[in-house]
Amino acid sequence: MGRIISVIGAGNVGASLAQRLAEKGYADIVLLDIIDGLPQGKALDILQSSPVTGCDAGITGTNDYKDTAGSAVIVITSGASRKPGMTRDELLKTNAGIITEVTQNIIRYSPDCTIVMVTNPADAMTYLALKVSGFPPSRVVGLSGVLDSARLSIFIAAELKVSVSEVSSIVLGEHGQNMVVIPRLATVKGTPITELLPRETVERLVGCTVNGGAEIVGLLKTGSAFYAPAAAAARMVEAIIVDKRETLPCAAYLQGEYGIKDVVIGVPVRLGKKGIEEIVELELTDEEKEALKNSAEVVKKLVNTMFIK
Ligand code: NAD
Repeated sequence: MGRIISVIGAGNVGASLAQRLAEKGYADIVLLDIIDGLPQGKALDILQSSPVTGCDAGITGTNDYKDTAGSAVIVITSGASRKPGMTRDELLKTNAGIITEVTQNIIRYSPDCTIVMVTNPADAMTYLALKVSGFPPSRVVGLSGVLDSARLSIFIAAELKVSVSEVSSIVLGEHGQNMVVIPRLATVKGTPITELLPRETVERLVGCTVNGGAEIVGLLKTGSAFYAPAAAAARMVEAIIVDKRETLPCAAYLQGEYGIKDVVIGVPVRLGKKGIEEIVELELTDEEKEALKNSAEVVKKLVNTMFIK
């Protein structure tokens, strides 16, 4: 096929993502993990579904970074996930070590790739991969708002009993408790939900969105969400690999946009074959701008704890 997308980490998110990408068929997939046999077994299983799904994409499982050579996009999902009662921040130290090692390995074999970071805490890990790789900020992007907005959208659709296709929403800021949900920008067929629902209901839906990940962790008990995260990451990969130039809320490095500097945080970006092709600056109210700045401060503190051992 020629084009390669690599997925690092063959756990819940990585394997689900590999399956989704293989079924799309726009590139061959390489699935890598440190556990011997895990990526090989899962890749073989996905491959054997291809005569049924009618997809011709190749999929290889490996423990060797050489097999990822020349990847156009590399999605990093390797690392620990949250256990019940654990915050994304507590994952920081463990995952920082993993992300440093993984990033050093992938850039050796794919110096021109775009990195999509999934591992949590996603904003801090995206920042770390950016610094370790030395890549331009356009080629390192993190999963945050596509997932958080999907969660808000499904809660709105369920509340108003409408199709998800009629709902549009956007969540900015940190991928965590300090995410910035902007209800006036959440719409159903173009009408803001603030005009469709009472204030208390809007606040409840915002709360459900902020706690969306934690609710699933509480139910699963041994891991965190992976179907929706894999779907969200696949949407980002698709925008890059097929050069859609689609505007999606993602974790991106800011250099003065929204009055914020030297931090990775969720903002709308245009994703295409060059990675982040534009950071889209929305007109925000003073209150929303303040919330975004506060959210950025939280990420900055997290990044500082990561670098101060
Ligand atoms: P998982 O435990 O099922 O899988 C993680 C995999 O990473 C395991 O197979 C493990 O062997 C592998 N791994 C660990 N160290 C490695 C290394 N050095 N090199 C290669 N592989 C390594 O976890 P999961 O549910 O797939 O979640 C993965 C990560 O994604 C977690 O950090 C989780 O919090 C995060 N996540 C982020 C979002 C988001 O929106 N950004 C959403 C869901 C999950």
